[in-house]
Amino acid sequence: MERDCRRSEGSFNFEIRSVPIPEPKPWEVLIKLTVTGVCGTDVSLAAGYVGPTCDILGHEGVGHIVALGSGVDPSIVKAGDRIGVSWVRDACGSCPCCREPGGETRCLEQLNSGRKLDGTFAEYCVVPARYLLTLPDDKANLPDELVAPVLCGGVTAYKALKTCGATPGEWVAVVGAGGGEEFCLLSGAEAYFDALEPDVVASVKNTTTGGVGVRASIVTAGSGKAYQNGLDVLGSLARWFAWGYRPLPRSSVSILWPSSTEASGSWEPWWGRVRRRLRH
Ligand SMILES: [Zn+2]
Ligand SMILES: [Zn+2]
Repeated sequence: MERDCRRSEGSFNFEIRSVPIPEPKPWEVLIKLTVTGVCGTDVSLAAGYVGPTCDILGHEGVGHIVALGSGVDPSIVKAGDRIGVSWVRDACGSCPCCREPGGETRCLEQLNSGRKLDGTFAEYCVVPARYLLTLPDDKANLPDELVAPVLCGGVTAYKALKTCGATPGEWVAVVGAGGGEEFCLLSGAEAYFDALEPDVVASVKNTTTGGVGVRASIVTAGSGKAYQNGLDVLGSLARWFAWGYRPLPRSSVSILWPSSTEASGSWEPWWGRVRRRLRH
């Protein structure tokens, strides 16, 4: 038996239950998890914002393979391999999104941890062998507890930076970076602004670009004010990334959309809702 942390019906409470260790199907491997992160998306899932979920949430897991399904080629993966278990557990592999490098996060058939498959708030989980994320076995420099949150929040923010189009010397605003001034500056930020400051948008634009506006903004907070601020700090031909996962409260945001701005979101079903909202 394994112990897991399941969502209690109709509430945010979690409880520890004993459930059978899952049996890997022929195309799956069984992972024994050592750690899992807790993401804001888990809270959104638990709250029912994203529709039906599995009982076991969690998508920032790290562990090792302990068993292979009968059809898994042991020359490709083996027991003991260190594995990361993230939000996308499998994708169709054949749609236009999947055929784009890195585009499987837009696949409408994707299977997500905690949403379509039991997640990582457990001691064991199964993962399709074709979508395994094998991690370097360098635990001294990359301990499990540091790798786990990178599997979702880390790679999400990194991908936004990678694709934002900013070139060296241009400014990128991370709206809702969290952690406070000291943490942000220690993490490499060159300037910090308190979102509660009355003229925060003008402060950002004036301090960074003499009032012109930044090249891109990455909105990591799920609030209407953060979404609007993320747009308002932009210059022309800029990019806006809606990375803070949560449905926008209908009453708290009236987005004024600059015509020269490109937009992108982190997960297709949710991003589609934002796009529809923006059209109305
Ligand atoms: Zn996440
Ligand atoms: Zn696909």
